[in-house]
Amino acid sequence: MNIGKTAAINDGINDINSHSAFFIQNKGILDYKGLAVYILTQFFHVLQMIIKYTNFSDGIHSFHLSESVKNLGLEELFFGNADVECRMDKSPHQIVLNCDLTVHSKMICDRCAKDLETKLTNHFQISYIFSRDLHETDEYNVKYLSPEDDKINIRNDVYEYAELALPMKRLCKDDCKGLCPHCGINLNEEQCNCKIEITHDVWEPLKQLKGKFNN
Ligand SMILES: [Zn+2]
Ligand SMILES: [Zn+2]
Repeated sequence: MNIGKTAAINDGINDINSHSAFFIQNKGILDYKGLAVYILTQFFHVLQMIIKYTNFSDGIHSFHLSESVKNLGLEELFFGNADVECRMDKSPHQIVLNCDLTVHSKMICDRCAKDLETKLTNHFQISYIFSRDLHETDEYNVKYLSPEDDKINIRNDVYEYAELALPMKRLCKDDCKGLCPHCGINLNEEQCNCKIEITHDVWEPLKQLKGKFNN
């Protein structure tokens, strides 16, 4: 799995060498700071949720992407980093990207309001088709790349799939007893002496109706 990655990094290094030679020849003075940043981004050529696919050879490559949920705009319901294990299959006509997303959510239990921290995972696949004309597509998870493009940004996809991973029912445990409606104590932790009255009476509407006729 790592063979592809090594090959791609080597491509990146060749790329850096040709560019640093370019800097020396054309500027005379080497801009060290600029070059350091350039080398870093080129060497890893996957920066946050951006994949510079032009640095990858055709074939299968596996790599890891990570970005803080804050940067992704997901800090309200999540904490830490969003991590994505990517498997990229690049061919002359398309790129198929398979991503396994892991995020950590912070929510509160719908019944007892206790804090919940849960590890959530989601998987998504996106096909990017190289095309000279940009098509509008209704097909979900199919995108087009023009010859001018050189990067894929999966930021929005990560955002979307992190939100989709959130459960509909947010419970600390399936049988959470919730809070007492009278005194508010957490019934999972202690019991109270409040009398829960059963007010629901199926005959109540009929009794009211009877009352109305009698008046
Ligand atoms: Zn609960
Ligand atoms: Zn109570």
